Amino acid sequence: IFGPERKNSRGVNLNIRSQYQPLMDAMAQHMDKRYEARPLLAFDVATDPAMVHEVTSPYDRRQAVGTVLWTSKAQAEKALDAAWAAFPRWDDTPVAERAAILRRFGDLMEEHMAELMTLCSREGGKLLTDGVDEIKEAVDFCRYYAMRAEELFAEPTRLPGPTGESNDLMMGGKGVFAAISPWNFPVAIFCGQVVATAVAGNTVLAKPAEQTSIVAHRVIELLYEAGMPRDVVQLLPGDGPTVGSVLTSDPRITGVVFTGGTDTAQIINRALAARENAPLPTLVAETGGMNAMIVDSTALPEQVVADVIQSAFQSAGQRCSALRVLYLQDDVADRVIEILEGAMAELHVGDPRELGTDVGPVIDEDARQGLQAHIDKLKGEGRLLAETRLDAAHTANGTFIAPTAFQIEGIDALEREQFGPILHIVRYKASEIDKVIEAINGRGYGLTFGVHSRNESFADEIAQKVRVGNVYVNRNIIGAVVGVQPFGGQGLSGTGPKAGGPHYLLRFATEKTVTVNT
Ligand code: NAP
Repeated sequence: IFGPERKNSRGVNLNIRSQYQPLMDAMAQHMDKRYEARPLLAFDVATDPAMVHEVTSPYDRRQAVGTVLWTSKAQAEKALDAAWAAFPRWDDTPVAERAAILRRFGDLMEEHMAELMTLCSREGGKLLTDGVDEIKEAVDFCRYYAMRAEELFAEPTRLPGPTGESNDLMMGGKGVFAAISPWNFPVAIFCGQVVATAVAGNTVLAKPAEQTSIVAHRVIELLYEAGMPRDVVQLLPGDGPTVGSVLTSDPRITGVVFTGGTDTAQIINRALAARENAPLPTLVAETGGMNAMIVDSTALPEQVVADVIQSAFQSAGQRCSALRVLYLQDDVADRVIEILEGAMAELHVGDPRELGTDVGPVIDEDARQGLQAHIDKLKGEGRLLAETRLDAAHTANGTFIAPTAFQIEGIDALEREQFGPILHIVRYKASEIDKVIEAINGRGYGLTFGVHSRNESFADEIAQKVRVGNVYVNRNIIGAVVGVQPFGGQGLSGTGPKAGGPHYLLRFATEKTVTVNT
C-alpha cells in the first residue's frame, strides 16, 4: 500500500537558480492575464451579468485577476440530474481507465505548474514556496489515489469460506458526491477531494471556495483535458449557502466530502440529516484546529524558535495545522521568547510573489478585520510579547496582518480558532503537565500537535496522551506528505479517514459480498 514504485512529485527547488529562474520566467507569462471562470457543467451555461463577480489580489486590491460567473440554484439542480444519470456508466468504467485519467491529470498539473502557482499567488495570496508545495501535493494525491484505487477496486477479494461456496468482496462507487473545499489549499485539497471521490466510481459536484474559484476552474479544465467526462466531474463556483443548499439537501446526494470550518461542517451535517426519505449519507469532514505545542526544559531554544516561526507564521498562519498555542516550560520560557522576538523582527511581510517574502497577505478584508479585532483585544489587555513590523511600502494596498505573539493563561482563554499569523504563548511549570494535556484535550479539537524535548520518554508519553490526528516531535507541525504522513483530525477537527492515507478511498466506496453455492 505504500507503493515503492510510486514516486512523489519532485517539484521545484527554489534555492537552485537553474530551477528557480525558468519557473519565474514561466510565471511571468501568466501575471497579467485576465481570467473568466464559470461553472463547468455537463451542459452549457449562459452568462448572467448579475452573477458575475470580480476577483482581485489579496496583496494588492487594485490588481484584477478576472471574473467568476457563479452557479445559480437551478443550474446546480440540473448539474445534479446529470451527475445522477452519469453514475452507473462511470461506476462500470474499469478502474484502470479511471486511474489513467488521474495519472494524466497529475502530469498535466506538473506541466502547468507555473500557471497554477501564479494563480495561487494572484488569487489566494500564496508564497512561492507554498505554491510549489501546493501543486506537488495535488499531483501526489492523483498518483497515490490512482494506485490505491487499482489495488482496491480492480479485482474482487476472494474470502475464505466453507467448501462448496465462494465468497467475493467487491468494491464500487456509492453515487453522487458533493466536494466542498476551502480557499487555503485551493489546488491540493480541491483536487484531493475530487480525484478521490471520482476514482472510487462516484460522480462529483465540486464547489470551490468563493475566494479561489479561478484556479479551481483552471484545474478542472486540465482534468477534462486529461479525459475526465464532463458529466462525471462538474464545477459549481458560487456562494456557499446557495450552491450548498442543493448539494446538502437533495436526497440524491450520497455523500459530502468537506474541508473548511467546524461551524460549516455542523451546518452541512444538519442539512444532510434533515433530508426525508434519503439514504443515510456519508460525511467526510476535515475542519479547524486549536493546535498546540509543548516545549519542556530540555528542548533546544534555537530549534524550537525556527519550528515555531514556521508552524505559526508560514502561509500567514492560514493552515488548519498551524500552531495557535505554544506551551513553554518556565525554565526555558524567557530564553525562547527572547529568541522568538528577534526572529519575528526579521520576518518580511509583503508581496508573496517575491522570494524574499516570509509572510504574505491574509485572504480577504473580512479575515483581516476579524484577526485585527482579536489582536486589538489582546493588546488592550497588555498581553503583547512580540510583533513583526509592517512596512506600508509593501502592504498598504493589500490585506495584511503583522505576525504577533501574545501571552495568555491557557488554551481555554481562546474562544475560537484564529485563522491567521497570531501565536498565543502559555507558561507552565513542570508539575502542571497533566493539567496542560487535560486542557488541550478538553477543547475537543484534535488536529495537529507538537512536542519539543530531548527527553525521549517525555515526548513519547505526551504524544500518547494527546488526542489529535497528527503529532510532530522536535520539528514544525505543518505539512504532511502524501502516502507518508496521512493527514486529518478527530473530534471537532474532523471525521477521518485521513487524506493521503491508505484508508481514504474506502469511505467513498460501497462493498458488496457475493456468495455463490458452487
Ligand atoms: P468555510 O468558510 O467553512 O468554507 C469552506 C467551504 O464551505 C467553502 O467552499 C464555502 O463556500 C462552503 N460553504 C459555506 N457555507 C456553506 C453551506 N451552508 N453549505 C455548504 N457549503 C458551504 O472555511 P474556509 O474559510 O474556506 O477555510 C478555512 C477553514 O478550513 C479553517 O477553519 C481551517 O482550519 C479549515 N481547514 C481544515 C483543513 C483540514 O484538513 N482539517 C484543511 C484546510 C482548512 P464559500 O466560499 O462560498 O463560503
